[in-house]
Amino acid sequence: MKYPLCPRCENHHVVKSGVVNERQRYCCKKCNYYFSVDKIGKSIDSYYVTKALQLYIEGISYREIERILGVSHVSVMNWVRKYKVKAPEQRQYHPTYKILNHTELLEHLRKSDNLKGAGTIITELGDKYMMIKWKRFKE
Ligand SMILES: [Zn+2]
Repeated sequence: MKYPLCPRCENHHVVKSGVVNERQRYCCKKCNYYFSVDKIGKSIDSYYVTKALQLYIEGISYREIERILGVSHVSVMNWVRKYKVKAPEQRQYHPTYKILNHTELLEHLRKSDNLKGAGTIITELGDKYMMIKWKRFKE
């Protein structure tokens, strides 16, 4: 694992110094500055936690959530456990999702048929939008 640079002096002589609130803590050997970094090396704010849990409830698998949001499936599993989220069992519907830019999204929404017979949620995702639709399994 690559250690981060010290945010204060940009020195790379950094050592691990315990874990605090599920974040790896480091200590800079040069300036003695303590700092912590999220374990997956990317800041995870509640934005991603909320999105991940939302997708989880919608029936999207851990691996898919990892692919969509770029946060590890292990983190997602931890959040599900931490917030005690339970997804309802789904047999009759399954979710499909699309990542669209703004123009594509508007184009899609223009046709009312695209919104019929499927529960649709739209959620912002970086500079794009994700649209989740529920489709009834063909029997
Ligand atoms: Zn330093």
